Amino acid sequence: MDIQRIAVIGGGTMGNGIAHIFAQNGHETTLVDVDDPALARARGAIEKNLARQVKKEKLTQEEADAAVGRIDFTTDITKVKGCQLVIEAVFERKDVKLSIYEKVVPLLGGDTIFATNTSSISITELGAATGMADRFIGMHFFNPVPMMKLVEVIRGYHTSDATTETVMAVAKALGKVPVEVNDYPGFVSNRVLMPMINEAVYCLMEDVATAEGIDDVMKLGMAHPMGPLTLADFIGLDVCLDIMNVLLVELGDPKYRPCPLLKKMVAAGDLGRKSGRGFYDYAKK
Ligand code: NAD
Repeated sequence: MDIQRIAVIGGGTMGNGIAHIFAQNGHETTLVDVDDPALARARGAIEKNLARQVKKEKLTQEEADAAVGRIDFTTDITKVKGCQLVIEAVFERKDVKLSIYEKVVPLLGGDTIFATNTSSISITELGAATGMADRFIGMHFFNPVPMMKLVEVIRGYHTSDATTETVMAVAKALGKVPVEVNDYPGFVSNRVLMPMINEAVYCLMEDVATAEGIDDVMKLGMAHPMGPLTLADFIGLDVCLDIMNVLLVELGDPKYRPCPLLKKMVAAGDLGRKSGRGFYDYAKK
């Protein structure tokens, strides 16, 4: 199936990046958010990121202007009508996602593919709620979307081969590297990453080494570009805790229990970069 027109619902950190890359690659793109300030923030982020690409000579100014020109920033959800692919990227809350699906699904054409960028909610469960599980799929982009190559393409229990093949092809055409995975809690990315971060927090709690020491071991010994505690500060400690809880509840194995120090830091409001303090102090920097 040829995907020309696409829509992104939610223009936050991920949604504006997703709209950016589709528009840059020639797709007529509709970006839906709740109000004008949210849309203005999305537009500002996209313009800033395109300007950075122009400065690095990866794009011309004309190409950047044309990309923004292809995006219809709107609060009108009915504009998803006529799109061949709709990608939902709103808050990581099942109730919020499902209430949007109720409005969106009746607007979709008979061959439209509906994707979600969720990091941790079951694709099978979300797909079942849409009543179009064969055309529902996970399209898990990584932050920052214009830079990161990976798209984890997650098949729900009833996602069809045709839907998966189309989404894999679309991701490749964007210059990304799609990896097909089946729907299990945390998919591959968070199933492997979050327990590693959690174990790093245990190492800190048990005074195996300092935060800098733990990060240095993983950077210099394992060639990770960023240590696990620095990465946790980037992701947000609340997000890490939520995902550990999903793994613990859904897989039912105590090996996924969140580290008490991680819980304590979240309770104290030390959420990482976004709150100014996590494993490192950003107020000082
Ligand atoms: P965010 O909070 O930055 O953005 C969410 C956006 O959704 C906001 O702009 C909000 O106004 C909008 N929104 C809320 N309700 C809406 C509605 N009814 N209609 C339209 N828009 C609505 O969130 P984010 O970090 O971009 O995360 C979005 C999704 O992507 C989540 O499912 C998250 O788990 C996933 N994800 C996030 C990351 C990350 O690093 N931030 C990485 C991969 C996946």
